[in-house]
Amino acid sequence: MSSELDVAVVGAGPAGLAAAHALARAGRSVQVLEAADAVGGRMRTLREHGCLIDTGAEMMPPAGAYPATWRLIRELGLADGGAVTRVRGALSVWRGGRARPHAGRPLGLLTGAGLSPRARADLLRLQVRLAAARPDPEHPERSPLGESTLADLLRSCHPELRDRLLGPLAAGFFGWVPERTAAAPFAAHLVSAGSTAHWCTYRDGMDTLARALADRLDVATGHPVTGVAAVPGGVRLDSPAGAISARAAVLAVPAPVAARLHPSAPETERAYLEACEYAPMLRVSLVLDRPLEPVGACGGFAVLVPAAEDPLLNVVTVDHNKHPGRAPQGRGLISLIASPRGAAELLDASDEEAVYRLTLRAEHLLPGVSDRVEASLVHRFRHGLPAATPRALRLRAAFAARGPSAVDYAGDWLALRPCSEGAVSSAARAAERVLAFLAPAADRAPISSEER
Ligand SMILES: Cc1cc2nc3c(=O)[nH]c(=O)nc-3n(C[C@H](O)[C@H](O)[C@H](O)COP(=O)(O)OP(=O)(O)OC[C@H]3O[C@@H](n4cnc5c(N)ncnc54)[C@H](O)[C@@H]3O)c2cc1C
Repeated sequence: MSSELDVAVVGAGPAGLAAAHALARAGRSVQVLEAADAVGGRMRTLREHGCLIDTGAEMMPPAGAYPATWRLIRELGLADGGAVTRVRGALSVWRGGRARPHAGRPLGLLTGAGLSPRARADLLRLQVRLAAARPDPEHPERSPLGESTLADLLRSCHPELRDRLLGPLAAGFFGWVPERTAAAPFAAHLVSAGSTAHWCTYRDGMDTLARALADRLDVATGHPVTGVAAVPGGVRLDSPAGAISARAAVLAVPAPVAARLHPSAPETERAYLEACEYAPMLRVSLVLDRPLEPVGACGGFAVLVPAAEDPLLNVVTVDHNKHPGRAPQGRGLISLIASPRGAAELLDASDEEAVYRLTLRAEHLLPGVSDRVEASLVHRFRHGLPAATPRALRLRAAFAARGPSAVDYAGDWLALRPCSEGAVSSAARAAERVLAFLAPAADRAPISSEER
C-alpha cells in the first residue's frame, strides 16, 4: 500500500488535535477523523438557549500545573486578550445546610471550609507528605505509593478529611471509586494542581483550545472510524464514510475504544489497553430563568456534596459564576454532577428521569430550583475519566516502553491522568513517536521521550 497521507488521527478531542498540530508543524500531512459533529470530545461546549454549556471539562489550573496545555495556549495566541480567565471562589463544600467556601486553598485552612481544626491540620500534614514524595503525574507508576489504592490513602486520613473533602473530590471530579482506584494518580494530581484559588476557565467555552487547533487543521467531523489495521506500508482506517489509508495513525480515543478499533494490537499494548477502564460520568445542565446559587456559595463556582449529604448528587457547579458569559444577563446556568453511584444508576435512564432525580436532589442546596428551569440537557460519558486501577498502573511501564509503530495512541489514559493536561501532554509524545517511525531508517533518531 502506498499512501499520500502521512498520518490519520482518530478523535478530535484535545489529545488528537494537539497530536495533529504537532505533526503538521513538523511538516507532515495529517487528517483528523472525528465521529461527532463537532470537535472537543469531553471538552466540548454547546451553544444553546443563549448559553455556553460546557458538557465535560470545566476548568484548569495555571501554567505550572498544566504546562503542555499552557504552551499551546500561548502558541495559539489565546493567552492574550482575556481568552483565559480566573474562576472566582472556585470550590466550597456543602455542610450543615450551606456551602462552606475556600476549600482546597490556604484561606480554607483558616476559615474551615467545612472541616474541623483537626481535619485541617491533617490536610496540611498530608499535603506536606505527598509533596515530599514528589509524585510525577506523567509517571504515576514510579510513585512510592506503589499499587496502594485510594481507599488505603484515605483510610490514613482524618475521617472528616476523607468523607468531606478528598473522597467527594475524587468521586465528583474523576468518578473514582476509592477501592478500585490507585492512590498514586490522585496524589500526583493533588500535588501538581495546587490551590483552587488559581483555577481558570476559557471565556468563550472549554472547547476554545480545540476550536483554535481545528481551525489550523484538516478535520473531518461526522467520520466515525470502525476499524484500524496495520497493513504493509501503512495503516487502513475503515469507516462508513469510506476507507482511508495513511502511513501511520494515532488513535486519540479512550482506551476501550482504541482496543475495539485495533484488535490486532501487539500483546503488551493489548494488555494495557484492556486494563485501562473508565469511570462513567453524568452531568445535567439546567438553564434557569434567574441566576440562582447554592445557599452560602457567595458568588463561588463549584460546591462539593459529600456522600453523607447526598448519595446521588456529587457536585453542583454554578456556570454563570464561573464566567458571566456562560448565561445571558438575568438568567442562570448550573450543572449537577452525579456521584459514582448516581452515574451508575442514571447512565442508561431516560433524560427525563436523570433530570428529575438530580434536580430533586439539588433542591436542598438551591431551594425552588425546580420551578426556575427553562431547559435541561443531559451529558453522558460512558468513558468519563480513566479509572486508574492498580492493574493498569502495574502494566503501564511495559506499555510506555513499546517501540515506535504504525499505530500509536494519545489520550488522558496514557499516563492514567484524569484531565485535559494528561491528554495534551500525551499528544506531544505520540507525535514524537510517529515522527520517529516515519523518519527514513538512516535518519531515525532514538526516541528521546522521557517514557524510556
Ligand atoms: C464530566 C467531566 C468533567 C471533566 N472536567 C475536567 C476539568 O474540569 N478539567 C480538566 O482538565 N479535565 C476535565 N475532564 C477531563 C477531560 O475532559 C479529558 O481528560 C479530555 O477531554 C481527554 O481528551 P482526549 O482527547 O484524550 O479524549 P476525548 O476528549 O474523549 O476525545 C476523544 C474524541 O474521539 C472521538 N471518537 C471516539 N470514538 C471515535 C471513533 N470510532 N472514530 C472517530 N472519532 C472517535 C470522540 O467523539 C472524541 O471527540 C472532565 C471530563 C469529564 C467527562
